[in-house]
Amino acid sequence: MADLDYKVIVGLEIHVHLATKTKIFCGCELAYGDTANTHVCPVCLGMPGSLPVMNKTALEYSILTGLALNCEIAKFTKWDRKSYYYPDLPKNYQISQYDLPFSEHGYIEIPLESGETKKIRILRAHLEEDAGKNTHTLGNFSAIDLNRAGTPLLEIVTEPDMNSAEEVGALARELQRIVRYLGVSEGDMQKGHMRFEPNINLHITKNGEVFKTPISEVKNLNSFRAVERSVAYEVRRQLAAFEETGVTMQMGNKATYGWDDDKQMTVLQREKEEAHDYRYFPDPDLVPVDIDDAWLGEIKGRLCELPIQMQVRFAKEYGLSDYDAGVLTADRATAEFFDGTVKLGADAKRVCNLLTQTGLKLANEKGVSVDQLRISMENLAKLAKMADGGDVSASAATTIFEEMAENGGDPAQIAEAKNLVQKSDAGEIEALVDAVLAENAKAVEDAKNNPKKGKKAMGFLMGQVMQKSKGQANPKIVSQLLNQKLNV
Ligand code: ZN
Ligand code: MN
Repeated sequence: MADLDYKVIVGLEIHVHLATKTKIFCGCELAYGDTANTHVCPVCLGMPGSLPVMNKTALEYSILTGLALNCEIAKFTKWDRKSYYYPDLPKNYQISQYDLPFSEHGYIEIPLESGETKKIRILRAHLEEDAGKNTHTLGNFSAIDLNRAGTPLLEIVTEPDMNSAEEVGALARELQRIVRYLGVSEGDMQKGHMRFEPNINLHITKNGEVFKTPISEVKNLNSFRAVERSVAYEVRRQLAAFEETGVTMQMGNKATYGWDDDKQMTVLQREKEEAHDYRYFPDPDLVPVDIDDAWLGEIKGRLCELPIQMQVRFAKEYGLSDYDAGVLTADRATAEFFDGTVKLGADAKRVCNLLTQTGLKLANEKGVSVDQLRISMENLAKLAKMADGGDVSASAATTIFEEMAENGGDPAQIAEAKNLVQKSDAGEIEALVDAVLAENAKAVEDAKNNPKKGKKAMGFLMGQVMQKSKGQANPKIVSQLLNQKLNV
């Protein structure tokens, strides 16, 4: 259909496990991968008569994230029961927040391919408890592990401001970077620390009229790839469904889908339930929370510069490519180590090259972050300055970096000890140049007067000088002297 145009509309719901020591309403330890049902107590088992107590750190982590997402933080917030029956939820209700979430109306800035950023509005963020985990690997029986029940879960809901699968992926990754920078979650996808649920539909313009396709919510996606692919798949499916049957929002309701990773397609699960189906009501076992200015101010003090802000700043102020800026800001330790080194007066591009080409690889091999290699910011700055000043060659700088990473030490001393100091003394180099010129009359002649062989002859003479200096002459100065003496 030539006269058909469409816009992709996606909102996202994200659940993030918070990295507190204990569960949200009891003292059970949060432990991933332990023997089933070894971190449970009457509260998280939902025993009658047991009483929940709020984990203050869980709320503080949530507020900190809310602040980083530019949300308004409520002065008063409370807990509600969301009723539903499922074997992994022994109480038959989930403690959540309904009409008075702790934060609302923020935005998250995401990086786009173009190097620009885009603001995606946040509708709300609230805190709730996670359920246990059902497994279905015992033949006719299912097993339930309640170690996870009661894990603090931060739910973040965006407005439908994303317009492509790529933007959805970018938001998911940006949120992971934010929670890791803040230290409120490990954001480990493999451990289910982040789960995504995109709401997708299309606004189709056909013959000047706009049609909206029914919204699909894809549940429980736990990888960036699955998020992006399920959105892309839904776009194709909804477009085909509209072209075939003309189905629109008025005719179809919002429906819930799962993602089949083997078949790479979404699978219809059920029609969407409404809020009233959950019979929300205030939890009488938990006191509401007053968030006063002093407490909020104290939490604000824990905010750090956000990754996207650092990335933009590195590109703008330090002249790095967006790619390099992205690599350096992937984790907070690397970003701050880089930034701190540059602030000591080292050249940003030089430090970036040393860190991204050598440092990250070494750190990765050792399973540590870059700042945990045995190199201080001071010594890295010093090394960068030595390389820029021609005291050591670029390849020598790499060698020195590797030595420092392994055994620590001062770059100047290492350069000395390993005979890596470049000779930049013009007088000393001039003597070598003169000797080489005297010994190679033919090459000198070609360099001066033979336009065909001149370049090659020049390279030969250069090589001879470097050889005579045992590779220690500063090539810049050698080249300058040769040009000068040969008048080319
Ligand atoms: Zn417990
Ligand atoms: Mn939820």
